[in-house]
Amino acid sequence: MDFKSRLIHAGSDRDPFTGAAGVPLYLASTFDQRNAQSRKHDYTRSGNPTRDALEAAVADLEGGSVGLAFASGMAATSSVLMLFEPGDHLVVSEDVYGGTFRVMTTLLRRWGLQTSFVDSTDAQALEKAITPSTRGIFVETPSNPLLKITDLAAVAALAGERELISMVDNTFATPYFQRPLELGFDIVVHSATKFLNGHSDVLAGLAVTRNKELGKKLRFVQNAFGAVLGVQDSWLVLRGLKTLAVRMEASQTGASYLAEKLSTLPQMRQVYYPGLAAHPGRDVHERQASGPGAVISFELASTELARRFLQRCTLPLVAVSLGGVESILSHPATMSHAAMPPDVRKERGISDALIRLSVGLESPDDLWENIRQALDD
Ligand SMILES: *Cc1c(COP(=O)(O)O)cnc(C)c1O
Repeated sequence: MDFKSRLIHAGSDRDPFTGAAGVPLYLASTFDQRNAQSRKHDYTRSGNPTRDALEAAVADLEGGSVGLAFASGMAATSSVLMLFEPGDHLVVSEDVYGGTFRVMTTLLRRWGLQTSFVDSTDAQALEKAITPSTRGIFVETPSNPLLKITDLAAVAALAGERELISMVDNTFATPYFQRPLELGFDIVVHSATKFLNGHSDVLAGLAVTRNKELGKKLRFVQNAFGAVLGVQDSWLVLRGLKTLAVRMEASQTGASYLAEKLSTLPQMRQVYYPGLAAHPGRDVHERQASGPGAVISFELASTELARRFLQRCTLPLVAVSLGGVESILSHPATMSHAAMPPDVRKERGISDALIRLSVGLESPDDLWENIRQALDD
């Protein structure tokens, strides 16, 4: 079935007992164990029918075998990293999400996981960073906040050759535009807080494994570590998922329009958007994804101009996060990437004049008018 139909019907589109549209909220922490042979559930940390429906839906949408729902994107990523052992080494995209960088370089470093951050758009740099103790590669594409493009098929092939676990954060593209497991990746993680839920009202994370064996190992981590997604939040993400296709299409239309318009402004030092003709790696992105998505970053001519813009551009929220129905502006240097040391930020091209815009469902013309007036002298 087509992806759009699967969005509506994958997982659980009706309650088998009552025929109710959608899966009910099974607000139970525990399940009666008498005559339990026929029952699948015993305790909600280990499994809950509402969460199961979301996990089945995302496994289907990503084209994987096992889906798992976690309390946040960071809980999903951190739980995936629990598949490794002290002394193991990972090669990681250098401009990963700030929280991913933080957990890897603080908590997990203390615990013995080694990481090397490299420019994953450069296949040779990735390969060179592999050491005898490397066990995995973790990438993000398009990356946050510079929308850098990593060649997924090439990374999956390299990981396969070296018997490494390949992991990708697919939050920005969503399975609507990009399905890395189909390109050979082992694990996809998501902050479902963003586009998958889509309404800025839930914190959630998802992971999907390509094969059952890895899925079983991650299921063990999920139950043992316990960072599971709550029942009500599972239900909300399921509801949000239903409209993913129409939301992504509309937001992408707005983003493409705004990226072109922004590129014409004299106050712009650089506009980053995979749909722009000059965007580095655009050809790779077009090969592996069906659209450029809904996130744009741009660097203004000065930090002062960026500060003033954030004060004067009033239609979008100024907030961390992205992927909601409302447009959201953020300032990576003081928000999403504040956890990254200033010298590392600078080295990675995240200047103080950089702004990220997640385009929501407002009229693109209203957004443009609001942006334009905010940049007037
Ligand atoms: C937000 C985000 C995360 C972290 O997700 P939370 O739900 O906030 O824990 C991870 N990766 C990317 C790309 C994100 O945007």
